[in-house]
Amino acid sequence: MIVIRGATTINEDSPEEIRGAVKELLEHIERVNTVSRDEMVSIVFSSTSDIHSYYPAKAAREAGFEGASLFSSQEPEIDGGLKLCIRIMLFVEKNLTPKHVYLRGAKVLRKDISDKINVAIDGPAGSGKSTIAKLLARDYKILYLDTGAMYRACALKAIKTGSDLKNEFEIEELIRNLSLEVKYKDGSQITLLDGVDVSDQIRAPEISMAASTVSRYPFVRLKMAEKQREIASDMSCVLDGRDIGTFVLPFADFKFFLTASPDVRAERRKKELEAKGYQVDFETLKAEIIARDNQDMAREIAPLKQADDAIAIDTSDMTIEEALQTIKKKIQEKI
Ligand code: C5P
Repeated sequence: MIVIRGATTINEDSPEEIRGAVKELLEHIERVNTVSRDEMVSIVFSSTSDIHSYYPAKAAREAGFEGASLFSSQEPEIDGGLKLCIRIMLFVEKNLTPKHVYLRGAKVLRKDISDKINVAIDGPAGSGKSTIAKLLARDYKILYLDTGAMYRACALKAIKTGSDLKNEFEIEELIRNLSLEVKYKDGSQITLLDGVDVSDQIRAPEISMAASTVSRYPFVRLKMAEKQREIASDMSCVLDGRDIGTFVLPFADFKFFLTASPDVRAERRKKELEAKGYQVDFETLKAEIIARDNQDMAREIAPLKQADDAIAIDTSDMTIEEALQTIKKKIQEKI
């Protein structure tokens, strides 16, 4: 006899949601463990105290899992616990290594034994996405992928080779043979261009607008998106960018769109650049940020845009910690 565990979440406490989620969870468990229904001895459900409208056990019977003995129970209310969550313990008369299944918002419960998760954080320059994405990845112990660094590396290459940024054909030829690698050293992302670490160089102020210019070209975008998808398909990660939720990973498990007022964003960028030793004028920087966002929003392919199913968060009046906690809470709730 083995025990398979799992969990899933629902969006609202309704019989339809419960039926759908229980069926999906059981069928997933059945599929990945290759167990048949007559090998299932007993299925025990427990649901969080905010679920009242239907018995998960009844939903299981209706979904055709009627051979096993079924039981539902309710968990006590726990502060900060995952909301609208249904947990399962399935006893199976078979000798195999159980594959536990955590779906939807419950994936965060057991990253060690569940499928990988992808978190997309999009937004304009200075909205706080890279700082927050980094912290989130650190806390969840998963990878952080800064997709902006890839476009910045393309721009750096174009500038170094004296290419005309406005000439799409010239940039396409250049990027076709680009040697760009993303590596990780002590948990930080390193960007290698032609084998050379350019992580600092790509942060120079003049690279920002150039990155925005070259990132308009379909060839450049498709090539970078392909690399990003490759990385995200291999492991759990938090990706920050402009088009992650809409174009790179439209099926990302969690999507956020961060914003902040232009003044706040320019102030943050100014501090960031000053800390790196660059002297910048606030008004010039603000004008540049606005122009860059407009260019990013106006491009034809994969523009800067909030995905329909992304959660928008205005970070203007939030500290980094507050924004981070807001995101974590949303992930827990999977609203
Ligand atoms: O985020 P960061 O400021 O490093 O991005 C630089 C530029 O790269 C952006 O202004 C945008 O034009 C481009 N970019 C993009 N798509 C992404 C990430 C960045 O077009 N996913």
